Amino acid sequence: MLLLAVPFVQAADLNPTQERANRFLSLVNASYQALVRINSNAQWAAVTDVSPIHDAAAEVAGNAYAAFNGNPAIINEAKALLLKRNELDAVTIRELEHVLLNAAEVPMTNPDLVAARVAAETAQNSTLNGFEFKLNGKPITVNQIDNLLNSSTDLAERQAVWEASKESGKALKDGLVKLRGLRNGVAQELSYPDYFALQVAGYGMTTDEMMKLNDDFMRDLRPLYLQLHTWVKYKLAEKYHQPVPKRIPAHWINNRWSQEWSGLIEAADLTPYFKGRTPEWVAHSAENFYTGMGFPKLPDSFWAKSDLYPVPEGDKRKKNTHASAWHLDLQEDIRSLQSIEANPEWFATAHHEFGHVYYFMSYTRPDVDPLLRTGANPAFHEGFGELTSLAARQVPYLKSVGVLPADFKADETAFLMQDAFSPGVPFIYWASGTMTHWEHDVYAGNLPADQWNKRWWQYVRDFQGIEPPTERGEEWCDPATKTHINDTPCYYYSYAIAQVFKYQLNDYIAKHILHQPPQSCNYSGNKEVGAFLKSIMEKGATEDWRKILKEATGEDLSTRAMVEYYKPLMSWLEEQNKGRQIGWD
Ligand SMILES: [Zn+2]
Repeated sequence: MLLLAVPFVQAADLNPTQERANRFLSLVNASYQALVRINSNAQWAAVTDVSPIHDAAAEVAGNAYAAFNGNPAIINEAKALLLKRNELDAVTIRELEHVLLNAAEVPMTNPDLVAARVAAETAQNSTLNGFEFKLNGKPITVNQIDNLLNSSTDLAERQAVWEASKESGKALKDGLVKLRGLRNGVAQELSYPDYFALQVAGYGMTTDEMMKLNDDFMRDLRPLYLQLHTWVKYKLAEKYHQPVPKRIPAHWINNRWSQEWSGLIEAADLTPYFKGRTPEWVAHSAENFYTGMGFPKLPDSFWAKSDLYPVPEGDKRKKNTHASAWHLDLQEDIRSLQSIEANPEWFATAHHEFGHVYYFMSYTRPDVDPLLRTGANPAFHEGFGELTSLAARQVPYLKSVGVLPADFKADETAFLMQDAFSPGVPFIYWASGTMTHWEHDVYAGNLPADQWNKRWWQYVRDFQGIEPPTERGEEWCDPATKTHINDTPCYYYSYAIAQVFKYQLNDYIAKHILHQPPQSCNYSGNKEVGAFLKSIMEKGATEDWRKILKEATGEDLSTRAMVEYYKPLMSWLEEQNKGRQIGWD
């Protein structure tokens, strides 16, 4: 009798609006999951075996997925239900909001606009991917550009290569001008003022709140950034036998956008320690990292269906070389695309991708509907990946898995410096500063296209303390040389948030669970750390990210932990930079 009473009471309690929402969402969840499965399988085939046939199939599947997500009947019902939100429970409201966010990218209330955007993005991607760079009249690949910037000490050559790398922007500008209009139009279809506001809505925030958050990151980290900037400026001036500049010339830094400053710290190079390891060992060590903390083993299908290693020589198949993690059916079909080799970069990347993989697995449970099987916000997914790769770079962990010998004496300053440079601290001034502010001005501020390059360099100078080798006029469009500006617009602050979030979680784990220094700790084999991570991961998007973070760590999103992480480095830098000209004003 008692058993029967429970469902009876629940049914009687349901108000008609909640009941209507439940019926609607059970249908939407089932269809959404089915279309994700179809679309993901087609996209997976297209990236693991690049061919015109797979591209065409992926486009068809993408259109079917869009037609469902942006269906006017679905939009109207979700909107109508949200008008009565006070009669709905919190999770239902979150699901309905996710339905509208999914729809807002492809609103079939205006199919011509959606089709025009898809066509313009396809054209932009093909210009981007097919662009042929030239150096002194001869074709040069992107890898060759990066290799030259990593190795050349001839400033004239560096400048020529850097300038060659900026040629693609010219070819991409007209397409980007067109896309700005189409993307803003798509956002306005669901009453967002512009595309920037639509993307920020994924955080439950306004544009002003997002800009302030990013400006606060830069304010908090500024003393540290100025010290790092000064140290690097002097080091590079010495390397190139040049007078010390105020701002660092962009072609002095290896990265084409100065977003990370690599290749400066030899004492933290782990390359020699990976000799004799296999790519398979690297992949399995990333799984062991998680199972050691009490997470389940990956399903057999992960190992059978993933594409983890480089295409063997002689094999004609072409695959995308960018690492990624996939949740193909929002159920147990989880895969990863990588090209793992036995070196420190892939060791960190494999750990990063498995952070995504275990996030997928943790929120895939009956209590989380398919619509909410995603990160609590777009930065949480990247944040767990980045946290895992930060943990994988800690010296005690590297010793415990045998990468470093037990008696290895780490140069702690060098390791901290390496963390700070890539991606770390300069990345914040690039991501929260230049990228976020420029896209804000372009999308939310409708910045006239004849001021784009000027505004870009104003931000690079002001936020990053970097300047171009020579004046860059409006005949160029240097922002468009960055892939994300073309294909993942108004999203880049997510990477900055993920960095800040990563240090906060690491700080909590090190201090409150491991009782070890955050700069030198070892998560492996600790079940309590696993339980802590799982308690955040298993929620998926069922609760507001701010609530999840606060409940887990006791604080709001904050750079406190990131600043503290680098305190020992800060003291060292202040000592080194004594008497030097700090900053660029
Ligand atoms: Zn990632």
